[in-house]
Amino acid sequence: MNKAVFPGSFDPPTLGHLNIIERACSIFDEIDVVVAVNPEKHYLFSADERVEMLTELTKKFANVKIHVWNSLIVDYARINGASILLRGIRNATDFAYEFDLSLINHSLNNKIDTIFIPCEQKYVLIKSSTIKELAKFGGDISQMVPDLVAEKLREKLKN
Ligand code: ADP
Repeated sequence: MNKAVFPGSFDPPTLGHLNIIERACSIFDEIDVVVAVNPEKHYLFSADERVEMLTELTKKFANVKIHVWNSLIVDYARINGASILLRGIRNATDFAYEFDLSLINHSLNNKIDTIFIPCEQKYVLIKSSTIKELAKFGGDISQMVPDLVAEKLREKLKN
């Protein structure tokens, strides 16, 4: 089976993430979306909340599964029988970062390769961190996240 892993923080999931997942669905037999839990990082949404949102947002795709992982992503891929890591690229800055990361992951496990999917033009400025900032100050994020995520952000920031 041609299985790919799409790892990320997804804090929160955006229309950019979903576009990558949707396009990957027609390339791979199965996509494991893996929600990263890194104790060094501060997340707005808990891992459970991120999984819940992604599960709801991807339920229309039969070949997408959502998981959580708190260690090296190459280990997740090895244990789960995937040889492809998938990453989205918005611009040259993303590329520089992702390229280095792909070399590190390949050096950790040379059976695992990274495939980059360039984002669509309309999603190029969509970034989870920007969305959180905008939402905090009441900015319009309706073109950047699904309604479900906009609602969860409103609830979260109210508390
Ligand atoms: P991470 O902390 O691992 O970078 P993110 O949730 O920010 O987690 O991103 C996960 C993946 O989704 C990365 O490959 C990132 O480049 C990609 N991505 C993020 N936003 C977009 C977007 N708007 N369009 C396409 N890919 C994106």
